[in-house]
Amino acid sequence: MEKQSTLTMDEKEFFMLEAIKEAKKAQEKMEVPIGAVVVLNKQIIGRGHNLRETTQDATAHAEMLAIQEACKNLGSFRLEDTQLFVTLEPCPMCSGAILLSRIEEVYFGAYDPKGGTAGSLLNLLEDQRFNHWCYLESKIRQEECGQLLSNFFKKIRENKKNAKKMKENHKKD
Ligand SMILES: [Zn+2]
Repeated sequence: MEKQSTLTMDEKEFFMLEAIKEAKKAQEKMEVPIGAVVVLNKQIIGRGHNLRETTQDATAHAEMLAIQEACKNLGSFRLEDTQLFVTLEPCPMCSGAILLSRIEEVYFGAYDPKGGTAGSLLNLLEDQRFNHWCYLESKIRQEECGQLLSNFFKKIRENKKNAKKMKENHKKD
């Protein structure tokens, strides 16, 4: 059975921009810039951005935090009829949380060829052998979402290079 999107293109863009805002919050904390929001009846009920370094918690992914907040707000683990927007393709853990919380629609920006399980390595979200599966759509503001990540990693590499150079110069002195 094919599922269908309940949102217009404008709405998808709007909520992905909100997820991008979350990703930028992560970036400000020197975290890998990934952000997510959970939406119900066109209202954001959960927000999250990657906090893995800050918390030193391997499970502090943007989607997990947004799902946790949404569950708390609804007082239920069932996020039926909700949509999740995330800037990067979900990993296996987050895909699991999406299925277990019964999120209805998932929209992501950039693909994660090395870790994504919403089409890249596996497609957990549309696998109808599971009890629950989702409507899935990718490439919403893909370029912007991907650019955030590539700029971040470029900066990290440059910082490392500069630090190395400074160390070498120091040795010469
Ligand atoms: Zn994840």
